[in-house]
Amino acid sequence: MAKITERKQSSAIYTRKIEKREQSAYIEIPFEMPEGVEELRVAYEVESHGEPKAVIDLGVRDAARVRGWSGGARTGFRIAQAEATPGYLPGALAPGDWAVLHNAYKVPEEGCTVTVTVEFVYQTPRWLKGDLHTHSVHSDGTFTLEENAAIMERLGCDFIAMTDHNTISQNLAYPRNTKVLMIPGTEFTTNFGHSNFLGVTDPMDDFRVAGQEDVNEKLRIARERGAKIVLNHPHCEWCPWEWDMTTGYDWVEIWNGPWSERNARALAWWQEQLASGRRLVAVGGSDVHRPDRFVKHAMPCTWVWAEEKTVEAILAGIEQGRVLITYAPDGPFAELSCGRYRMGDIVPAGEASQEVVVHAEDLLAGDRIKLISDRGVEQELVVAENGSLQLKAAPDGRLFYRAEVWRHFDVVEETLLAAVTNPIYFNLSQ
Ligand SMILES: [Zn+2]
Ligand SMILES: [Zn+2]
Repeated sequence: MAKITERKQSSAIYTRKIEKREQSAYIEIPFEMPEGVEELRVAYEVESHGEPKAVIDLGVRDAARVRGWSGGARTGFRIAQAEATPGYLPGALAPGDWAVLHNAYKVPEEGCTVTVTVEFVYQTPRWLKGDLHTHSVHSDGTFTLEENAAIMERLGCDFIAMTDHNTISQNLAYPRNTKVLMIPGTEFTTNFGHSNFLGVTDPMDDFRVAGQEDVNEKLRIARERGAKIVLNHPHCEWCPWEWDMTTGYDWVEIWNGPWSERNARALAWWQEQLASGRRLVAVGGSDVHRPDRFVKHAMPCTWVWAEEKTVEAILAGIEQGRVLITYAPDGPFAELSCGRYRMGDIVPAGEASQEVVVHAEDLLAGDRIKLISDRGVEQELVVAENGSLQLKAAPDGRLFYRAEVWRHFDVVEETLLAAVTNPIYFNLSQ
């Protein structure tokens, strides 16, 4: 299965001659919004047939209302579900009768011609990548929300969760002028462990706890309000999770910031959990607070197979275990499949006769790929040349398979984890 990150697109071009007598009139260029559009992009050009130069304003309406207006200030705009060009309203792009709007403010004697390009970007299931654990000036970070968004956009990332400590004010102040999707988040920070609450703006009214019962209560309330709960850096040397590690959370952060001993301990703990038959989703997060040589945005980067770029779809993808963590946004990519099943799925006993395939891309010569099951490392291969490759194995009574890619990084002169997948699971009993 290849690394699908692009969306399907289609476009249409409309030209319209505007006559001098139409000056001061509002003009519509109707178009049909198809089903399943996730993002609309419109651009226009005006060709004046003589002097004075034509001035033609731009806007758009959907079937119900004027959806945005930029006058003569912009040559185009985009509207997506969660964000849009300033002046335009984000939200659902309902199919039906839409129109690009023009105001023929000034038209030369000989008229002018507008050329409008309408582009539809369709909802396409694909891999989205981002950072589930960052901080801002809303707690002890130095980045503004705008700076965090701009950095993630430069990195080509799709989403960010700004999980400030015990506060939610960042969730109420998101920048709009960015393509990066904001996942509401807060880091429930106690003196005996941290966990991230993802997906809801306001998961708790009061973070203060005095004991395990209080912690259980906070986790319960956050869940009731719709949050997904991540056990953060559980084996950190400074702030490990010293509360109950068996219940009350959804996912575990096995990779926090640069690869380190504490992350290795979390990875080993996760492997033990999986080998004992537990199915637990692993995620990563940079925990970036300020500019730093090693702790950087989207290092590690969490990849999620999502039906669309919305908070709900990304959280649903994680919940399904369709998650890969790479050391950086351009790190090596790997996923597993078994017939029509893939990472996160539970292959029924009757269908486990097919081979498990590990498909890896963006590898470098010298990378080491490991295929791991509940029995430990089952296959290990040193990559001979840059590019992609596949490994195959038989399910044959295993509880799961997962993959890791290790790489030698010259900058630190160490071999470190470069990618880790979530498992594909097998149901052993009929
Ligand atoms: Zn923390
Ligand atoms: Zn943190």
